[in-house]
Amino acid sequence: MPIAPVAWSTVRDRLRERGLRWTPQRRTLIEVLSRTDGHVTGSELVDRCRDVDPATIPSTVYRTLDVLEELGLVSHSHAADGREEFHVMPNDEHGHLHCVGCGETWEIDAGEAASLVAAVAQARRFRVELSHLSIAGRCARCVAAET
Ligand SMILES: [Zn+2]
Ligand SMILES: [Zn+2]
Ligand SMILES: [Zn+2]
Repeated sequence: MPIAPVAWSTVRDRLRERGLRWTPQRRTLIEVLSRTDGHVTGSELVDRCRDVDPATIPSTVYRTLDVLEELGLVSHSHAADGREEFHVMPNDEHGHLHCVGCGETWEIDAGEAASLVAAVAQARRFRVELSHLSIAGRCARCVAAET
């Protein structure tokens, strides 16, 4: 999805409002994020920041990501192994299907997940957070390859 440059240009002020100083490391992370599309893991972000600034400290990256998530500029979900994956400028809430056979990931949107979410809500009175829904399993191709 395309990145809105306007949102990134206000990050500096918004971080300051939260009492976070505008440091070179944070500026590097914002730069990297504004060039990032789709899904990215925290360690990939740390690596990309290190390419720009070798002094990048992972804990600073993760702490800044937490604040950016509160600001709605990134969101996170979890891969099949529980690892955090970040979405940059999340538009539509969606869940994920992860194939344990081939490692592929697919997105399921609110429409596709509606009956599943409704079934859980009805049976368990549990409100599913779609952005945190990650289902591990085997894709059609992997299932076909098994037989
Ligand atoms: Zn989480
Ligand atoms: Zn597969
Ligand atoms: Zn996603």
